[in-house]
Amino acid sequence: MFDKGDRSDRRFLTYEHHLREGEITDRGVGASRPPCDSHRDFLPDGKIPAVNDLPKDCRVAIIGGGVIGLSIGFHLTKLGITDLVVLEAENLLGTGSSAASAGGLRQQFSEEANILYAMEGVRQIRRLLEETGFDPEFREHGYLLLACSESRLKALTKDVALQNRLGLPSEILTPGEIGDRFPELETGDLTGAAFLETDGYCDPHAILMAFAEGIRKAGGVILTETEATGLLLDGPAVVGVETVRGEVRADVVVNAAGPHGGAVAAWAGLDLPLRPCRRQIFCTHPFPFRRDLPLVIDMDHPFYFRPEGEGVILSAAEVEETRDFDLTLLDADLSDLVERAIHRCPALANATISGGWAGLRTLTPDGTAILGPAPGRPGFLLAVGMSGHGITHGPAVGLALAEWIATGEARSLPLDPFRADRFSPRPPAESPGAIEG
Ligand SMILES: Cc1cc2nc3c(=O)[nH]c(=O)nc-3n(C[C@H](O)[C@H](O)[C@H](O)COP(=O)(O)OP(=O)(O)OC[C@H]3O[C@@H](n4cnc5c(N)ncnc54)[C@H](O)[C@@H]3O)c2cc1C
Repeated sequence: MFDKGDRSDRRFLTYEHHLREGEITDRGVGASRPPCDSHRDFLPDGKIPAVNDLPKDCRVAIIGGGVIGLSIGFHLTKLGITDLVVLEAENLLGTGSSAASAGGLRQQFSEEANILYAMEGVRQIRRLLEETGFDPEFREHGYLLLACSESRLKALTKDVALQNRLGLPSEILTPGEIGDRFPELETGDLTGAAFLETDGYCDPHAILMAFAEGIRKAGGVILTETEATGLLLDGPAVVGVETVRGEVRADVVVNAAGPHGGAVAAWAGLDLPLRPCRRQIFCTHPFPFRRDLPLVIDMDHPFYFRPEGEGVILSAAEVEETRDFDLTLLDADLSDLVERAIHRCPALANATISGGWAGLRTLTPDGTAILGPAPGRPGFLLAVGMSGHGITHGPAVGLALAEWIATGEARSLPLDPFRADRFSPRPPAESPGAIEG
């Protein structure tokens, strides 16, 4: 029976486990996977690495040691810029949104720029093992987006045409075709689905580790327990960061602070339309289930699920703004989620919930990130608002912004669709937290 099972907080248990094991982080989806040992070489004896001294100046200072900040740092080192520091407030890397992700890699977007970033992300993740030695365990089982209405199917059909034009082999399936390929699913109320077999899911932990080790090996500095507390300003220009360990001057300061990106931007007087929203993921105990199912999203009765380890993970795909960043796991809506899940996939009735976790997705009004130079603030770069696709887009964001820092333009990918002033030009205002330097 698909009931709540024991209500242990899996996220907390996993976090404790990794602390004990000396691993950097994996509070989230890696819970049921075997621990990754490949990063031991930069964590000898399972110890957390020693904290380096804060440099007095550097070329690039990155605020935030999640997938986005680390990806930017990694790509900078690949372009030969190693004089950089990543500043992370917590004692471990990747404990923010990155640890909470479902590890989904979806290229099926509606906008050209988001598709191109996702395609580049998947390209890099396919190469990750060979390039870095870290295995992202990319399970290329696809994403299946289910439609229950004609209007939803029409929208998916339009998206698929755009994706095909950009080179993705996504396709529209009829309810009959869905049933043939995925007999586990109830199709009686469906009008169709979009499917892309080259989508899938991965281990986000390995991606983070690969980027962090790449930075360290190239000579870049990563400092944990180093919270940024303000920006150093020289007129309109951002010229460095104030931290709990002192100041670091930098030619370029990058805001990659995830859900705290709005607060960091406000230090420069920028009012960015960022909304941190809670989302929960529940995981099940092991049970007999098909392991190569795609990540299935029920678009019209929002929820998604996918195999993970010997069980599944599932989420009500809620969009709930939070002001206090409270990540307590709530089971108020669990019975509704369970009902939707069993309706769509009757075999889930054999599962029991083992736990789960909550995380923050940082949304913008159009669901697309804010990337590139901050309006009116030379020396300040924004990499925020990654919504529910920061793991997928992270590798490409790193490439585009590293190119921009190194050469003044993003050569491989478009940056313009992500510019901050697309919402409304909000000129810098008074800057609490800014320090004139
Ligand atoms: C439940 C859930 C499921 C998701 N599923 C997916 C998915 O399937 N696929 C996908 O692609 N994406 C998914 N996402 C989204 C993805 O996890 C995020 O978009 C991504 O992790 C954002 O990365 P980030 O580096 O911007 O933020 P974070 O990972 O939050 O990193 C920001 C870092 O900045 C640090 N920081 C903040 N303020 C300061 C400061 N003042 N000084 C120093 N450090 C600071 C924080 O401690 C944090 O470590 C999901 C998110 C959630 C919550």
